Amino acid sequence: MRILIVGAGIAGLATHRALSLRGFKPTIVDRHPGPGEGGAGLFLPGNSVRAVEQLGLLDALLKHSHPIARQRICDENGRLLSEIDTAEFWSAVGPCRATRRSTLWQLLREGIDTELITTSVEAIDDRDDHCRIRFDDGEIEDYDLVIGADGVGSSVRRLTFPDCRQPEYVGNICWRFIVHNVAGVADWTVMLGRDRSLLCKPISLSELYVYADLAVPKHEVSRYSAARRLEPLFAGPLRPVLTLAASANVHFAELVRLRLDRWYRGCVVLVGDAAHAGPPSMAQGAGLAVEDALVLADELAASPSLTVALARFEARRKPRADWVHRQNASRDKARRLPRIVRNALFRFGGEMLYRHSYGPLAGPL
Ligand SMILES: Cc1cc2nc3c(=O)[nH]c(=O)nc-3n(C[C@H](O)[C@H](O)[C@H](O)COP(=O)(O)OP(=O)(O)OC[C@H]3O[C@@H](n4cnc5c(N)ncnc54)[C@H](O)[C@@H]3O)c2cc1C
Repeated sequence: MRILIVGAGIAGLATHRALSLRGFKPTIVDRHPGPGEGGAGLFLPGNSVRAVEQLGLLDALLKHSHPIARQRICDENGRLLSEIDTAEFWSAVGPCRATRRSTLWQLLREGIDTELITTSVEAIDDRDDHCRIRFDDGEIEDYDLVIGADGVGSSVRRLTFPDCRQPEYVGNICWRFIVHNVAGVADWTVMLGRDRSLLCKPISLSELYVYADLAVPKHEVSRYSAARRLEPLFAGPLRPVLTLAASANVHFAELVRLRLDRWYRGCVVLVGDAAHAGPPSMAQGAGLAVEDALVLADELAASPSLTVALARFEARRKPRADWVHRQNASRDKARRLPRIVRNALFRFGGEMLYRHSYGPLAGPL
């Protein structure tokens, strides 16, 4: 089968590896040759690490990431509301780890022995039993399957589903950067305010991945940028890390959500953020992307036809991505409750909420 993967981010590289492990020989292209700028760090809950393990990369990941055994939820002043024993919760699935996004990208990149072609797709002509692709250098090629792994702004999605829903702003902007762990943060630790949160996770013995977000109406987003000083926005014990932002590579973004009715049409299918990008409240974006890769490869290897494989892929994956979307939304809603209600909710129900949100993701793919 002639397979083209468009996009070599987490989803595209994972899909290439999953397909190669099952004997396919896909072609992979990306408009940029490297790991890209975005992302800074990633938290990988147990199901995400399990997916990386199924790609045969567990040892490499364990070597290049940091263990996260506990998740601590605090109020805006740093008072502990709830502490989740993530090591215990995920013990039957996989360990929780934190790392740089570029590290996961590199592990996946090293795991494939093919050339990464630098180009992008300009046109997709979906013919009955194949797709004719025109690349931006004018080259034309035919493929039996085109996999859109080209992220939230996917060109494959735009060319295949011109009328589909667009990514929608969820009401928060965010800053992400990696700094020296001056605050001595040992666990995944978040401070929740009503309209803002500050999250720190160690990604090595000395480095901390910092994520800060703020609720801002769409028309005011343009007032903010990567250069915005963050110390005035936050109080509490994690604040010292914000002073280091000035010397860090800060990524600034609007958080969006993408909910599609369909993920495939003809011989084109979407995976990863191209199909289901969401805000990071559940830290599932990378994990879902790798799981998509595994399930798509499974179905392509096992199904009697391409159409059946794509239908089965969507049927197995979409409910899970929809669940993550719903959990992202309810977490955002919970933290916007009046302070006293929110604190009581996390103090007395934090662990129950965690088990409810992540329980289905601990199940099999
Ligand atoms: C603030 C924030 C924090 C996050 N934190 C976490 C976390 O802690 N844990 C977690 O699991 N997830 C997290 N995520 C989500 C995670 O980063 C993404 O879900 C994941 O990286 C998606 O990977 P992807 O390969 O689908 O898309 P991308 O990483 O966007 O990759 C898309 C690739 O396609 C290429 N491309 C784009 N257009 C074209 C084109 N026209 N032609 C060719 N190539 C193209 C791009 O160059 C890129 O290489 C977070 C996301 C955000 C926004």
